[in-house]
Amino acid sequence: MASKTARLLLFFTVATFSFCFSSGQDAETPPAAPSPPICGSVRMAIEAHNIVGWRTVSPECAEYVAGYMSGDRYGRDSDIVIDQAIAYAESLKLSGQGKEIWVFDVDETALSTLPYQANHGYGAQPYDQSSFLQYVAQGSAPALQGTLRLYRRLLQLGIKPVFLTDRTEDQRAVTTNNLLQQGYCNWEKLVLQPTGQQISTQAFKTCERQKLVSSGSIIVGNIGDQWSDILGSPEGCRTFKFPNPMYYVA
Ligand SMILES: [Mg+2]
Repeated sequence: MASKTARLLLFFTVATFSFCFSSGQDAETPPAAPSPPICGSVRMAIEAHNIVGWRTVSPECAEYVAGYMSGDRYGRDSDIVIDQAIAYAESLKLSGQGKEIWVFDVDETALSTLPYQANHGYGAQPYDQSSFLQYVAQGSAPALQGTLRLYRRLLQLGIKPVFLTDRTEDQRAVTTNNLLQQGYCNWEKLVLQPTGQQISTQAFKTCERQKLVSSGSIIVGNIGDQWSDILGSPEGCRTFKFPNPMYYVA
C-alpha cells in the first residue's frame, strides 16, 4: 500500500513538474516589452508641434500609438477639444448677418480613417497613397462623433460650417456622400484641392481661408488634426487642434 501511494505521489509530482515545464516551453513568443515611457512624451511633442516633419511612428512606439488610438484616451483627448470649442462658440456674439463660418478639416477631424489605419499599423508603416485612396474611395469613413456634436451645435447657433480639405476635386462626390451619410449636412462650402496641384497643405489652406475672408466671411473657428490645417494667416479667431499621433502633413 505504501509503495502504491509513493508511486502515485511520484506520478503527480512528475506530472505537475512536466505541466509547469512544458507551459514555459510552449510560450514561444515572449510577452511584448512595454512601450518606453518616452512615447507619451513624443506624442505630447508632436501635438505641441515641437517635433515636425516626421514620416512614421517609430517602431518602439508603434504599440503605444496603437493603444492610444484604439483605446479610450484618444476619445477623451478629442472630447476635451470639442468641449472647449463648443463653449467658445456658445460665448460668441454673432453679427446677425450670417457672416460667421467655422472651418473644418475632413480626415481625422470630421471623418475618421481609423479603420484603415488599424490595418496599416496606426502610422507605423510608411504612407501608401494607393491603398489610402482606395479606402477614401469606399466612402465609408465613420464620423468622429465629437466633431459631429460640435458641427450640429454650430448650426443651432447660426455659425456656418465650411469643410476645407486636402482631398482633391476628383474626390468631391465620394467625400460629399460620405459626409452626408455620416450625419453632416447643410454646410456652406466644401473646398477641395484642384487635382494635381503641387503645393503644401498649409499653403493651400491658407490661400483658401484668405479667399473666404476676402468674400466677407468671418472665420470664428478653425479645427483640424494637423498644424498645417490651422497655421497661416488668416487662421481664424480661434483654432482647435485635434489629436493625431499617426501621421504628419506639412
Ligand atoms: Mg486631417
